[in-house]
Amino acid sequence: MEKTNIPELFGSLVFDDRVMRARLSDDVYASLKKTIDENEKLDEKVADAVAEEMKNWAIENGATHFTHWFQPLTGVTAEKHDSFISPSPDGGVLMEFSGKELIKGEPDASSFPSGGLRATFEARGYTAWDPTSYAFIKDKTLCIPTAFCSYSGEALDKKTPLLRSMQAINKQAKRILKLFGTDANYVRTSVGPEQEYFLVDKEVFNKRPDLKYTGRTLFGAMPPKGQEMDDHYFGVIKPRVQEYMSDLNQELWKLGILAKTEHNEVAPAQHELAPIYSTTNVATDANQLTMEIMKKVASRHGMECLLHEKPFAGVNGSGKHNNWSIGTDTGINLLSPGKTPYENAQFLLFLCAVIQAVDDYQDLLRLSVATAGNDHRLGANEAPPAIISIFLGDELTAILDAIRNDTPYEGTEKVVMKLGVSSLPRFSRDTTDRNRTSPFAFTGNKFEFRSLGSSNSIACCNIMLNAAVAESLRQYADELEKSANFEEDLHALIKRVITDHQRILFDGNGYGDEWVKEATEVRGLSNLKTTADAMPHLLDAKNKEMLMAHKVFTEAELESRCEIMLENYVKQVNIEGLTMVDMVRKNYLPAIERYLFRLAETTSLMRQVSDKVKCNYEVSTMERLSELTDHILDSVKDLEEALKTFKGLSDVFKSSEFVRDEMLPKMDTLRSYVDEAEMLTSQKDWPFPSYGQLLFSVN
Ligand code: ADP
Ligand code: MG
Repeated sequence: MEKTNIPELFGSLVFDDRVMRARLSDDVYASLKKTIDENEKLDEKVADAVAEEMKNWAIENGATHFTHWFQPLTGVTAEKHDSFISPSPDGGVLMEFSGKELIKGEPDASSFPSGGLRATFEARGYTAWDPTSYAFIKDKTLCIPTAFCSYSGEALDKKTPLLRSMQAINKQAKRILKLFGTDANYVRTSVGPEQEYFLVDKEVFNKRPDLKYTGRTLFGAMPPKGQEMDDHYFGVIKPRVQEYMSDLNQELWKLGILAKTEHNEVAPAQHELAPIYSTTNVATDANQLTMEIMKKVASRHGMECLLHEKPFAGVNGSGKHNNWSIGTDTGINLLSPGKTPYENAQFLLFLCAVIQAVDDYQDLLRLSVATAGNDHRLGANEAPPAIISIFLGDELTAILDAIRNDTPYEGTEKVVMKLGVSSLPRFSRDTTDRNRTSPFAFTGNKFEFRSLGSSNSIACCNIMLNAAVAESLRQYADELEKSANFEEDLHALIKRVITDHQRILFDGNGYGDEWVKEATEVRGLSNLKTTADAMPHLLDAKNKEMLMAHKVFTEAELESRCEIMLENYVKQVNIEGLTMVDMVRKNYLPAIERYLFRLAETTSLMRQVSDKVKCNYEVSTMERLSELTDHILDSVKDLEEALKTFKGLSDVFKSSEFVRDEMLPKMDTLRSYVDEAEMLTSQKDWPFPSYGQLLFSVN
């Protein structure tokens, strides 16, 4: 371990505010700060001065290259490194980096998914500096966080719409704050994402083609010991994992990422890392970096870090909790109950905005976390269901009920709730009552959206959340700005919203079957079980209208995104199907055959020795294994047929339905036969490491 002085280490590879203030002239610093805080356009001269100092700082810290770092729709980050060198007249080189290079880059955009956007608009794409997220050094390269757009301005990435959604919520929230006379220059949303992951020994991992190609095991019988003992959650961290975590923390701290909490999770080999929350776009960049560095550091420790949502069937998968709040530059958390009745009325209005947003745009939240991987989690008895609902806790529920019914609130003081007047009781923060099964829970001063998969970019759900809440706030501002009696109309509005959106509030067990019935049949909530079901709703008229009205997406962007997300889904499953066929044909069937041969040989030899031997074990095993090989053969042929049909489909909506209805069920069938065969075959003859060997590979 190189450095142990954490304050010294922290952010040492980041061109952050401290560095800027120390290295830039006062003028340059002031104008850059204005750009960062108030979104003002950056002067070219200022950009040159910033670039020069950024380069000098980067070189002093060992960098030789720079790159625009961006988040295309593949879900992983992209970078193309250029060195600082430029030839000098004397035959040597100079280290150069201009303001132009800082502000704009032109990566070859053609191999990133665009869903037809570039074909329709412009062939080239460009990257544009996001000065609100600090530049940093990674692998001797100065990385400049950027947005990625087509030349006609269409977003080709996840960051651009995220920044737009932050602007939308800023605009609408400020209108509301003005009505309350609350002082704020801007409003920003913050996120703290809790990241789950698995660690597997690299040698064992390398023996599993399914893990290598698809990130998850496509076969594998259950180990004798799984998570049923509940002995892993918050358990003692193994020394090898502890070393990994320490190393990981150091790397993240150097990059200014506030890695804070680490612990073992429910499943064997499963762990979690949570940072301290930060502004949403910064948190998004940090989470992308965190995922990348988790993998890199694991490799250094002879391990593989699995970020797939469901690496092992039958064992808890990995999610990511998106802790979200909204606050002002003056330090007010708008989701925190305040000290005065007036602040509490403001809090209740923001609370209403979230409740309404989640109800009106359940489908957008659901589809924002939809991927082939996450489909294996949502609705299984370990993760929130595919149905979106909100948990508020006892106290808030009681307060909202009191407002809704005009009844006294049985809290600290018995008074009828009237907003904006002094009788509104002070709220105490309810942090005890936690419901782990709710997909969207209020946790004291923030909402926790728990449906995200571990590999999801947090950009997607925050785009939807910000935009949907902006829409509620817009409606409230439109109404209240016209009001002649603010307090009365505010009270009426809050009461109406609570009444109209009761159906989304649910404090019970989200994992139960009764909930699915009640939610869908009684409450009319949507239950979009798979990516194929969810994604097309991106193009529903009400969703398009809202997202376009707040300038978060253009129509073309929405269409392209829907297509790309569905394409990602079908491509992923297609690779899984092909991998299964490959493993079955080349490894599983030959392995079972070898074992059958040994059993047959043994049986006939034993019978030569004595005709009294029954060979019950050999014969019964052979009989069942032989049946299973027939089933395996039939189902692999079936899957091959489906893969062929899939290849012939050109419409992505049709393909996604085919994947859901035909491919995935066929893959499940094939797997079930192979897994049964695994239980009957000697471990020595089995071609791949077992679940037990994988899950307990790190000691
Ligand atoms: P849990 O019990 O779910 O682990 P924690 O209180 O430890 O919850 O917080 C989890 C995450 O929530 C952390 O990343 C933390 O920084 C983040 N968080 C805390 N307060 C806020 C807030 N006001 N806005 C956004 N995220 C927050
Ligand atoms: Mg949590």
